[in-house]
Amino acid sequence: GSTIGILGGGQLGRMLSVAASRLGLRCHIFEPGANPPAGHVADAVTTAAYDDADALDAFAASVDVITYEFENIPTEALDRLEAHRVIRPGREALRVSQDRVTEKDFLTGLSLQTAPYAAVDDAESLKAALEAIGTPSILKTRRFGYDGKGQVRIMSPDQAETALAEMNGAPAILEGFVNFSAEVSVIAARGADGQVAAFDPGENVHREGILRTTTVPATLPQRLRTDAVLLAARILNALDYVGVMGVELFVTPQGLIVNEIAPRVHNSGHWTQNACTVDQFEQHIRAVAGWPLGDGTRFADVVMENLIGDDLDRVPGLARDPSCALHLYGKAEVKAGRKMGHVNRVIRG
Ligand code: ATP
Ligand code: MG
Ligand code: MG
Repeated sequence: GSTIGILGGGQLGRMLSVAASRLGLRCHIFEPGANPPAGHVADAVTTAAYDDADALDAFAASVDVITYEFENIPTEALDRLEAHRVIRPGREALRVSQDRVTEKDFLTGLSLQTAPYAAVDDAESLKAALEAIGTPSILKTRRFGYDGKGQVRIMSPDQAETALAEMNGAPAILEGFVNFSAEVSVIAARGADGQVAAFDPGENVHREGILRTTTVPATLPQRLRTDAVLLAARILNALDYVGVMGVELFVTPQGLIVNEIAPRVHNSGHWTQNACTVDQFEQHIRAVAGWPLGDGTRFADVVMENLIGDDLDRVPGLARDPSCALHLYGKAEVKAGRKMGHVNRVIRG
């Protein structure tokens, strides 16, 4: 059978490996860090850095297709891998999503709404951006941010200097603060044949920049429910995308505003594991392996809750709750703010 190469051995790589294994496929993980969560379930693991040319060549030669669980893979490594094997989702999706300014330029180019934004490189460009966008606003690093890291709110122009210092000289983006009534996300998939499928939109609650819960169905007017799926499809089609993508949206009186896109399976799609026949992980593997997309119809209401840091102490109680499906990532060390697992609370109608 085929072997799927996965860049990144975190929990997303782990759950992709489980899905691939269920379809009779093999997985080979490439991960610089020791003892990755995906290592316990994959068929093979390469522990090497992204600048190790020999390791990249050998990895690519051992797999049939390459995918990834995170978008910040160095460009040189991608070039090297792509000389041997196809990478799905493709390079354009990575190029666009690795940089928040490039991403917003792409989205506005598709006539989609984003927060007002401007690139910020120094005190002068921040001053100009604050004059154009106003406060409250958020200064974010253009690259490498996740779980709200590398972000600082600016409530008034006098906070500009301290906010800029937080960027540590990295290129940044100033975003106007969106006064949303809710955050929702669409987990959409596109097959190699161009077919598009989307899971029901989920409603997301964040605390301290980290996703806490996703509730499905989302409280969303029917009109916006359709719009959410249509705009996600527009993004996937424009990128000639193959695989699953997470599209994060703000709900506002002016309609849906795109926060960001993630060219991979997404934390806010974990609920699909226990409320759909085919979940986001199988859907992604199907797409990258060139299979037809599966049926992602939802058959139950569900609340996904992330188990972060010491939340792990609640596992014995959750394990006794018949409505709870537990997903633990097998991470050896508990750290504050670290995603250790999640629980899907399934509500049968
Ligand atoms: P992720 O882990 O989802 O990749 P991230 O570090 O890329 O997170 P964002 O999604 O940009 O961060 O922001 C995290 C959260 O902060 C958002 O889900 C939202 O709650 C809030 N937020 C970000 N940008 C804005 C904005 N322009 N207006 C209002 N709230 C915002
Ligand atoms: Mg992000
Ligand atoms: Mg986000």
